[in-house]
Amino acid sequence: MKTKIWLSSPHLGGNELKYVQEAFDSNWVAPLGPNVDGFEKDLELFLDENINVAALSAGTAALHLALIECDVNHGDEVICQSMTFSASANPIVYLGATPIFIDSEKDTWNMCPVALQEAIEDRIAKGKKPKAIIVVNLYGMPAKMDEILSIAAEYDIPLIEDAAESLGSKYKGKACGTFGRFGILSFNGNKIITTSGGGALVCHSKEDKDKAVFLSTQARDDAPHYQHSHIGYNYRMSNISAGIGRGQMEVLNERVEGRRRMHDFYAEICENMDGVDLFTEPSSDFYSNHWLSVITIDETKSSKTAEDLRLAFLEENIESRPIWKPMHLQPVFKDAPYYGEKVAEQLFGNSLCLPSGSNVSDEERERIAKVMVEILLNKKEYSVSR
Ligand SMILES: *Cc1c(COP(=O)(O)O)cnc(C)c1O
Repeated sequence: MKTKIWLSSPHLGGNELKYVQEAFDSNWVAPLGPNVDGFEKDLELFLDENINVAALSAGTAALHLALIECDVNHGDEVICQSMTFSASANPIVYLGATPIFIDSEKDTWNMCPVALQEAIEDRIAKGKKPKAIIVVNLYGMPAKMDEILSIAAEYDIPLIEDAAESLGSKYKGKACGTFGRFGILSFNGNKIITTSGGGALVCHSKEDKDKAVFLSTQARDDAPHYQHSHIGYNYRMSNISAGIGRGQMEVLNERVEGRRRMHDFYAEICENMDGVDLFTEPSSDFYSNHWLSVITIDETKSSKTAEDLRLAFLEENIESRPIWKPMHLQPVFKDAPYYGEKVAEQLFGNSLCLPSGSNVSDEERERIAKVMVEILLNKKEYSVSR
């Protein structure tokens, strides 16, 4: 069996162990400690000097706390992009609120501003103004932030930017994760950098950050005994995980370059393939970290489908995956309201995520290219000179 080529695997190799060793040597193995502070500083410097970051146990935890800080309660409604990973929507339900799903638009595959406006007006007409909007930067691609932010401002609804997949991406030169009232990041094992598992809440004030830290450490009041006036959570990042994160921050820019090189590699392969399109920035306003490279195959122009390609990859022990199945099509969310057309649904039917890691070797790229050319161009002989 040939060695497996993963869709997106961790890529260590900076100073992760050095920071973890420091934590062991100083016995800072428990939550909190110098690595947590250091990792938060690194992220703040990377994103924007006026940002306050709270390091947490997961991106999902960060979204949960963002919704709490936006005062989402039982019976409320929260707007959410439909095409995303389920973790974008689940915390809405943790709070007893209802998700209202929105279709994608064709340029960025992210939240459609037209459907967003329609949804807000219809929900208000039905008697409830949505409490928050969750927009996602899918596969690293920034959403149409100007349009989304202006609608959020018009109706005075806080925006939460799910930047779990888009650390290192930019929109008009500004870092993804910093656009909304809150942003969330993920350092899960498959993301552009990892802490083995972790996340962060991106805040615009120290107050918002302090509140997140308070809630994430069991909401203890300031008293010598354990006293609580709020329900708390155990969501803080550990000092060990943060040590891995500090090492990863040293190589984040290289990881973004590596992922973008994978995207260029696919652009070259797909250049002359009829009906095969690589998911790419619509204009120079958008700068994607290309966390995952994705292609769309138009069945009316190509003799093969995305599923044909997936199965051919599988035979060569190469991992690929259909894109996120839209939330409004998921059994668990079948009763949630949905606004839009069928853009997300159609993209889901004919797109495929390709191996995108910054650690894919030249030899592995050869194997990937060979399968794509054989399947999509029906060619048996192929050699690449990369
Ligand atoms: C990974 C991911 C999350 C969740 O992050 P975790 O750290 O795994 O909890 C949320 N939203 C999106 C879009 C993601 O890809």
